[in-house]
Amino acid sequence: MPYDPNNIFARILRGEIPCKKVHEDEHALAFHDINPQAPTHILVIPKGAYVSHDDFSAKASDAEIAGFVRAVGQVARAAGVAETGYRILANHGRDSHQEVPHFHIHIFGGRDLKGMIPKA
Ligand code: AMP
Repeated sequence: MPYDPNNIFARILRGEIPCKKVHEDEHALAFHDINPQAPTHILVIPKGAYVSHDDFSAKASDAEIAGFVRAVGQVARAAGVAETGYRILANHGRDSHQEVPHFHIHIFGGRDLKGMIPKA
């Protein structure tokens, strides 16, 4: 799937629409999910134009990957969920029901997150 430069997270990165920012650095931006599924539900996105983890892992530079992975950990620790535990999740493509075609990691925490995924 080609990258759509008008997807909503690209527009957030360009400052065209607002977000509740919690972190920003050279490689990553993190903000609260607009429809939280847990007391802590933060999205971390790379600044580069990547559709999903599949795209990011194939094309991003080592510096982008390292910076992004470190940002996810930093954001989780700063959100206060590292002690009690949290889940990170990234959807890719149809079967995952990915909604926004800009790579993002969800950080969920702040309650017992129960089972891994819903049963079929
Ligand atoms: P996914 O299904 O993995 O693509 O998840 C997309 C996530 O983006 C969903 O959890 C949405 O609630 C969230 N989302 C969509 N639009 C916005 C927005 N403008 N600001 C923050 N989160 C958003």
